[in-house]
Amino acid sequence: MKDMGWDELVPGAALYSFDSNVDYLMAETQPEDRTYCETNSKNAYVGDWRVIKPVWNSELCIDCQNCWVFCPDTAIISREKEMKGVDYDHCKGCGICVQVCPTNPKSLLMFNETEKNEDALTKWPEKKKKGEE
Ligand code: SF4
Ligand code: SF4
Repeated sequence: MKDMGWDELVPGAALYSFDSNVDYLMAETQPEDRTYCETNSKNAYVGDWRVIKPVWNSELCIDCQNCWVFCPDTAIISREKEMKGVDYDHCKGCGICVQVCPTNPKSLLMFNETEKNEDALTKWPEKKKKGEE
């Protein structure tokens, strides 16, 4: 696709998500197996301006899927109802997934973008007791 400037787009132009208008298998097909159009944001790395990121602690996760349901960028990777991690190519660092994570301590926490995930996992807080903030 030719790169277009903002003033070259036709008002009301539609950017299709998939190569075919109707993809009956879409719900059953995993994201990596779908036929995306070039204009689909799936093909774009959009995580480069994130300053904080969610780190996932698989030891604590109960696979409740809250993070997957609430993430506004479908950046939570889940397969067969099992949490698999965060898609850092598309995560914007909004922190919603951390807010909705119900475990104690949370299984997702926000860290500085420059922090290595393996280092972040060594800094995980202890379980909070009843009455603690
Ligand atoms: S920080 Fe926001 S965009 Fe990133 S995975 Fe969590 S909910 Fe999704
Ligand atoms: S919200 Fe927390 S416990 Fe639930 S699947 Fe996501 S990381 Fe796991």
